[in-house]
Amino acid sequence: YRVPAPNRVQDRRHYDEAGAEARVDALVAGAYEAFENTPDTDPDLPGNREWGRGIASRMVGSELGNATVAASRVENESTLNAIIERGIAASEGWRALGADERARILYRAGERLEARRAELLEVMGSECGKTLDQGDPEVSEAIDFANFYSALGQELERVDGAVYEPSRLVAVIPPWNFPVAIPAGGTLAALASGSAVIIKPASQSARSGAVMVEALWEAGVPKDVLQMVQPADRALGSALVSDPRIDRLILTGAYETAVAFREMRRDLPILAETSGKNAIIVTPNADLDLAAKDVAQSAFGHAGQKCSAASLVILVGSVATSKRFRNQLLDAVKSLKVGTPENLETQMGTVIAAPSGKLLRGLTQLEPGQSWEIQPRELPSDSPLARDRDGNNKLWSPGVRSGVQRGSEYHLTEYFGPILGVMTAKTLDEAIDIVNDIDYGLTSGLHSLDSDELALWLRRIQAGNLYVNRGITGAIVRRQPFGGWKKSAIGAGTKAGGPSYLHGLGTWHDAEPVA
Ligand code: GLU
Repeated sequence: YRVPAPNRVQDRRHYDEAGAEARVDALVAGAYEAFENTPDTDPDLPGNREWGRGIASRMVGSELGNATVAASRVENESTLNAIIERGIAASEGWRALGADERARILYRAGERLEARRAELLEVMGSECGKTLDQGDPEVSEAIDFANFYSALGQELERVDGAVYEPSRLVAVIPPWNFPVAIPAGGTLAALASGSAVIIKPASQSARSGAVMVEALWEAGVPKDVLQMVQPADRALGSALVSDPRIDRLILTGAYETAVAFREMRRDLPILAETSGKNAIIVTPNADLDLAAKDVAQSAFGHAGQKCSAASLVILVGSVATSKRFRNQLLDAVKSLKVGTPENLETQMGTVIAAPSGKLLRGLTQLEPGQSWEIQPRELPSDSPLARDRDGNNKLWSPGVRSGVQRGSEYHLTEYFGPILGVMTAKTLDEAIDIVNDIDYGLTSGLHSLDSDELALWLRRIQAGNLYVNRGITGAIVRRQPFGGWKKSAIGAGTKAGGPSYLHGLGTWHDAEPVA
């Protein structure tokens, strides 16, 4: 039996029995076990096909999370004020519980997330178009955050000679693209550190956030310690962020949003993971079969709507001049099954909303010298899950453009969708220059089996998260902490899922000397 890697839908029982070390080995070995290959005997066993069919069949028309979303509507400033006051009042008791007791509750939160795995997958598919193979590792990541941050919170209390003082109230503002893992990560970090939390999920994914929050309440996190809000308008959202009683802000979103928040409150420490324009370099020393698969997965998983997604592939030397790799890559992209998430065959799903603005431009317009290797198309679909909140179609096929020039708009712009640009370079150094031209520095990949090339790339490349001979999405809590460099981060710059994340959420004081 081959151990399934953690970023595929899997038979959870085998996964858990195998243990963390084996999971890591499996990942390193690239031993991906496809969803279709898991045993098909017990419909209640997470990871098997019948279980998946059951979830998928409930995605259309799912109502999960609605009640919590409705209850969390904030219509005016006085309600918002009351919520902030409640959070501050509740923070004292939460802090006084101590890290061990908080950790007991938050470990239980991990168990409740596991218990609600099927519901979380259902609501993510229904609301955000997450396919099961994208949603399942996301739930696992949320559970990993619960366990990891609980343990970190306990460690903070045991540091000799220093006392960690948590913030009172942390605002968590997550995006819609990882509607469970990112909200859970920020929330669990702040709770483990001893703070109360106000979470404002993205409106596109409020129900997914709500089911996650319900799981934490069930575990014993008091409802005043963790409050969810849905501001009725932008002004109320800004009022939350700019309120001086908020001590810390955890944000994942566009760079421009983070800058706007920083302008609102210059004194507010922000932990922000922002935009990316990420590239994978493929050299003549690469395993080209592996590279083609990894580039396609990194570019088009969740329709490319990950900050971590590959938006550029840079072909070096003979990889650029010969047709072999290009053809392999184009075959891999053409073979992706595009559809809505209630269909288990779907490999690439919808984007979050009918493309407009920058994304529509990226899907439809070429710059001088560029051509479509595969032109993206809007796909007609009968599925209700192919329509966005305004009733417009949001199902598109993937696109690949070649001839992307250094300094062009495509080279430097984040489009956040299913488009990949091909660039070429004579040498690895030139390829690295092309990557480092970009203002962002979130994820970056190298496909090469040559250790000198690896050393050169490691020395020069400017990005927060580096991946060698694998895809560039799917960071793993503790093992691969996730955070950006350059314009991909703002503020403390600590990495989610990393050892120092909680430090940025509080302050340190010298301990009183023992008399
Ligand atoms: N942590 C995710 C990954 O490693 C990306 C998060 C994001 O897109 O914001 O793929």
